[in-house]
Amino acid sequence: MTGPLDSASARLTATEVSQHASLEALDLTNDVEYLSRFLLQVQALFPELIPVHMRTAWRFHDRGPQDLEDELQSLGAIASASILGVRVDCCGTITAAAVTASVLAACGVPATYYLNHSAPYFDLARGRWGRPQVRASEVARELICHIALTGMEVGLHNDVWGLQDTGMDPIRSLKASLRWLRSLGIPIQGSVSHNTAWIYGVENFQVFTDFSFVDGLPRDRQPLTNMASLGLHYEANFPEPHLSRPTYTQLEYRESSSRVLSEEFMHMYLMQHPWFRRGYEYEIWAIGPDEWVIADYARHDFQYAVNSASVLEQLGSRAGQRSLGVLVLHPEYFCAGLDFATLASVFGWEMAYGRA
Ligand SMILES: [Zn+2]
Repeated sequence: MTGPLDSASARLTATEVSQHASLEALDLTNDVEYLSRFLLQVQALFPELIPVHMRTAWRFHDRGPQDLEDELQSLGAIASASILGVRVDCCGTITAAAVTASVLAACGVPATYYLNHSAPYFDLARGRWGRPQVRASEVARELICHIALTGMEVGLHNDVWGLQDTGMDPIRSLKASLRWLRSLGIPIQGSVSHNTAWIYGVENFQVFTDFSFVDGLPRDRQPLTNMASLGLHYEANFPEPHLSRPTYTQLEYRESSSRVLSEEFMHMYLMQHPWFRRGYEYEIWAIGPDEWVIADYARHDFQYAVNSASVLEQLGSRAGQRSLGVLVLHPEYFCAGLDFATLASVFGWEMAYGRA
C-alpha cells in the first residue's frame, strides 16, 4: 500500500466478504487450492496445450496459425499448436479476482481478466461515477493493478446496456470506463459481454456495429459504434453469424432467465444461442463445486455438470492437434472460505486493516 486506507476500502471488504459468504451458501464455490490443483494438472499432463491471453487467442483465430509461426514457436507450440485462451469474467468481485490472478500466475497460466464497469467494485475503484458519495477506494484500485502486475491481460467486461438502463449514455460510459482503466497504465485491447442477454434482449457486444448481423433488434438496443473507435481489437466471444438458424427462438431464450446455470439454459446459451456462434472450436465453463460445462462446437458435444476429470479428458483429446479452445472462469467460484483475514494476509495488509 502506498497510503492509509480510507473508509471506502473497509466498506469494499465487508461487501466482498459478505458476497463470498452468500455464494458459499449457494454451494457454488470451490477453493483456491482446487483451482491451483486443476491448473497444475493441466500444465503437467498436457505440455503441448498452450494457455494464452485472449488477445493471443484472438490473433490465432483472426490470422490463423500459419501467420503466427514465430509467435507460436516462442510459446513452445511449433507444429501442432493447441491453443487455450483463458478468460476470467470478473462480474461482481474484484477481491476474488485478485486472489485467483495470483494463483494463475503461480501456475504459469496467462489469462485475461475482464472487469465489469457496472459492478460496485468498479465504482469504488474509480471513486466517482456520477455518484459523489462514492469515494475512491485505494484497495480496489490496487487490486486491479495487482491483476495487471501478475502478468494477466486486463479487458472490459462489457455491461453497457445495464448502464444505459440506469440512465447513462452507452457510448460515453464505455469511453469513460476505458479511459479510466487506461489511466492506470493498463493497456486495454479487448472486451467481453457480461452475459445478460436474457434481460436486455440482446448481447452487450451488440452495441458494436462490428456484430450487426442480427435483424429486428429493439429500438433502444441498436448498434451504436465500432470497436476500433474505442481502441478495442476484439470481443472475446469471437462472435460470428450463424451458419444456420438455431432451434430456439429469441423469446424462448429470454424466458429461460429463471434457470441460469441450468442444463437447459447453458445448452441454449452455448450450443444454440439465438444471436451468434463462437469463433472457436470448444469452450469449458466452471459452474459450481467441481462442476463444469463442456461445449465442443466442432464435435457437437455438450456435457453438463461434469467433474474436472472429464475436463482433463476433453483437454487431452484436443492437446497435440491444431485447435482453439477457451476456458471460462469466474473468480468467485474458486474462493470459498475467502475472508477478511485471508485477504489481508494474501496482500500483506494486516496493519492497514487493523487500523480500519
Ligand atoms: Zn459477467
